[in-house]
Amino acid sequence: TIFNEEGKPLSSFGIVIDITEQKQIEQELIIAKEKAEESDRLKSAFLANMSHEIRTPMNGILGFAELLKESDLSGDKQQKYIGIIEKSGARMLNIINQIVGISKIEAGLTELDMKETNVNEQIEYVYTFFKPEAETKGIKLSFENPLPAKEAIIKTDREKLYAILANLVNNALKYTEKGSIELGYETLDTRGRAYLRFYIKDTGIGIPEDRQGAIFDRFIQADIADRMAYQGAGLGLAISKSYVEMLGGDIWVESEEGKGSTFYFTIPYKMDHQETDAQNVDESAIEKEDQAKSLKVLIVEDDELSAMLLSEYLQAIGKEILQISSGTEAVKICKNHPDIDLILMDIKMPDMDGEEVTREIRKFNKDVVIIAQTACGLSGDRKKAIEAGCDDYLAKPLIKTQLQTLIKKYFVKG
Ligand code: ADP
Repeated sequence: TIFNEEGKPLSSFGIVIDITEQKQIEQELIIAKEKAEESDRLKSAFLANMSHEIRTPMNGILGFAELLKESDLSGDKQQKYIGIIEKSGARMLNIINQIVGISKIEAGLTELDMKETNVNEQIEYVYTFFKPEAETKGIKLSFENPLPAKEAIIKTDREKLYAILANLVNNALKYTEKGSIELGYETLDTRGRAYLRFYIKDTGIGIPEDRQGAIFDRFIQADIADRMAYQGAGLGLAISKSYVEMLGGDIWVESEEGKGSTFYFTIPYKMDHQETDAQNVDESAIEKEDQAKSLKVLIVEDDELSAMLLSEYLQAIGKEILQISSGTEAVKICKNHPDIDLILMDIKMPDMDGEEVTREIRKFNKDVVIIAQTACGLSGDRKKAIEAGCDDYLAKPLIKTQLQTLIKKYFVKG
């Protein structure tokens, strides 16, 4: 400032810098840092929880396998232990499927497979699947299918719809000690668009209001310190939410602590009248029980235990089972044995991957049925295997009935 002789200011100079942008960036950086820290914290909690979720069933499997070795076990006890091992294995598989599911969603790899789906059938499948468990717990499970069969056929992703329903009923059972669980759907019209609104209503522990939003977030449950000691990885609802949104709907919960919860989700109600009876054809093929002729089967598998398991599964139908653990050998054997009917092809092998082996075999043998089997369980695996020349695809762990169904599909005529 410049002053005159009397000390009064005459003029002033100043510099003004607008730091709004700088401040904004600062704020954004702080928020980003907090978010990163929060996400890091949640992931650590998630990993700790996951480790627990995997170790617990592992404990059941290894522990009871150990006990099974005891020679003086009664038959009853043996069966009981085997049952526990099976249950633990199924629980672990569920966790792994959830981890794969959420990873696929995060990586944007989840694809939709839209096809005609009978909603009533899906509800009934879920009902039938969970009925025994509900009975054991003394809970009344009921369902309602309001639409007549013809109108209940919509175009959607059947597997995803089933997964959502199964997950919600599974939760309802998990968090309900007594009372009932109702499962069903209704049609509704919102702003000229038709929807099916599904509901799963339980009389369980309920969810406090301040947690009702969070339970749909991934990793969240892992971080809730006071959570009750129920098993679970806190991923089921996050996966369900992603699936519902992919199908074009919404999911939410209405719940009161101590009284129960009702989970709702919507999917667009698009009827598809071009009914095909693809499903019926499939089923009739399955019904032609045990017609598979004796087959010559080649198992290409580098993991000894997996090969042993397949071989046991196939004993009943294979007249001759060949087994090989390397890709290059497999091509050779196929050349020397043109009468092989079926090849079960592992995909991940050290010398040559299953897709490459299949391509080689297809150069001289177009007829042999090749079923790929892999433990990766990633989307795109099936497509890659089929493109390489495989006829079908199975994901490990292999279930005996799935294998049998596929074999019937290719080898039972009529
Ligand atoms: P989890 O594997 O832990 O069950 P979910 O993502 O399926 O994971 O559910 C997240 C959380 O939401 C659960 O841990 C539980 O606290 C709560 N929750 C889900 N369904 C119900 C229900 N039917 N009744 C009460 N609480 C539920």
